Amino acid sequence: MLKINTVIIGGGISGLSAGHFLKKKKIDFVIIESRKKPGGVIQTIKKNNFTFENGPNTILNNNTSINQLLKDLRILNKIILPNKKANTNRYVFNNNNPIAIPTSLLKFVLTPLLTFQAKFRVFKEIFKPVQKKNTSVINFISSRFGKEFHDKLIEPFLNGIYAGDTSKMSSKHALKKFWKLEQKFGSIIKGLLYSKKEKMESFNFSNGISFLIRTITNSLKREIINNTKVTNILKEGENYKIETNSNKTFLCQNIICSIPAYELRSIIFDNDLSTVLSKIKYNAVDVFHFVFLKNDIKNDLNGFGILTKPSDNKIFLGVIFSSKIFPHICSEKYELYTVIVGGEKQKYILKTKKSKLKKLVLKELRDLINCNGELQESNNYSWKNGIPQYNLYQEKVEESIQKFSAKNKKFHIIGNYFSGISVSDCIKKAEVIVENHFSNNH
Ligand SMILES: Cc1cc2nc3c(=O)[nH]c(=O)nc-3n(C[C@H](O)[C@H](O)[C@H](O)COP(=O)(O)OP(=O)(O)OC[C@H]3O[C@@H](n4cnc5c(N)ncnc54)[C@H](O)[C@@H]3O)c2cc1C
Repeated sequence: MLKINTVIIGGGISGLSAGHFLKKKKIDFVIIESRKKPGGVIQTIKKNNFTFENGPNTILNNNTSINQLLKDLRILNKIILPNKKANTNRYVFNNNNPIAIPTSLLKFVLTPLLTFQAKFRVFKEIFKPVQKKNTSVINFISSRFGKEFHDKLIEPFLNGIYAGDTSKMSSKHALKKFWKLEQKFGSIIKGLLYSKKEKMESFNFSNGISFLIRTITNSLKREIINNTKVTNILKEGENYKIETNSNKTFLCQNIICSIPAYELRSIIFDNDLSTVLSKIKYNAVDVFHFVFLKNDIKNDLNGFGILTKPSDNKIFLGVIFSSKIFPHICSEKYELYTVIVGGEKQKYILKTKKSKLKKLVLKELRDLINCNGELQESNNYSWKNGIPQYNLYQEKVEESIQKFSAKNKKFHIIGNYFSGISVSDCIKKAEVIVENHFSNNH
């Protein structure tokens, strides 16, 4: 049995970040990762000089933890910011035509996306009473801004993040920022006007997002144990015993657990937490990449991408105009598109045979960008348990994790299924745990 101060379970960005911050405090630890290399959801694929992201396409630099991590790793100067124009333009469908989401008050007043009544209804939000109880996103947004605003803007936007169902999603957790503004200022519009604007810069790297993983991994070479799956966690007095599918067993004082809820639920010693974790839903999505010659594209939409709502009757949930945002991911003569399919409302589509699905998705993309030219390259990845859903059950999830942490003071749970799904949220949670619970071991 190997004795060690801390075991980090899972080598995705959450676990790796926890490792990075622990190392700064000179704490003795290992990271146990079940796959042959770390990274988890972050997966950059290089194919014939094209860079495809199977997982996240951009990272938000919106908190001090991510900024600190980049600084510590000396890669802050390696980030590539998105093309400005592409980053500000986002599209949705209006009567089957792509239309830019208004980004200023004037554009909002002029947009044909919403009817006059719907626009007027949005401004009435200022006078709406504050919600006392948490409710679904559809109820929350419809009661504050009207149903049309929800259907045409909020639903597509959340489709892009969670691939979920707004009638099941918790407004307090999936739209945390809006919820907090409403609670604090009595109105979201007032809150947006009076609160300090958050920095929302996003970035990538010249070799894709996996560059971040490789850089952290290189600095934690001695601590990472790959190809080892944790199969059981037991409490032994004040310590924890960690069993794995290899011949290694660990005895430690602290655990930082960053694996998905559906993995933790089957190896944790606490039945109550296990029951709650088993209720967290993860939505499946398929990610397709398609490359065309620029010259073959007749409808050259310049923007971040386009999002859909169910009534658009599209097969895809959204398309990211990847090479518009980050032109470095392919050579100048090409355009690279990332197409997301599936999610809660269209899960049945993912049952289609892969070759047929690819054809259907490709046809829709060709129609969108008006392109009959030859497909130059493609790639596909299926996420069976892709995106954790922040549904109405989330209140109970967070409560149970807190209760468990209070009972098991040296067992810390982090990851993407609570308090923020983004890469930068995951890094922040890791840093906060290390800062609050581990002291320097100089
Ligand atoms: C398709 C897609 C697109 C996304 N796009 C974006 C985006 O553009 N921007 C953004 O900020 N976020 C995005 N996200 C979300 C973000 O990428 C994830 O929330 C984040 O990367 C999760 O990191 P994690 O370390 O918490 O979990 P994971 O990446 O899931 O890592 C968990 C690790 O634990 C390991 N593991 C599991 N079980 C065990 C076990 N029993 N023993 C040992 N190891 C185990 C796994 O192999 C894995 O490496 C996207 C997610 C998906 C799926």
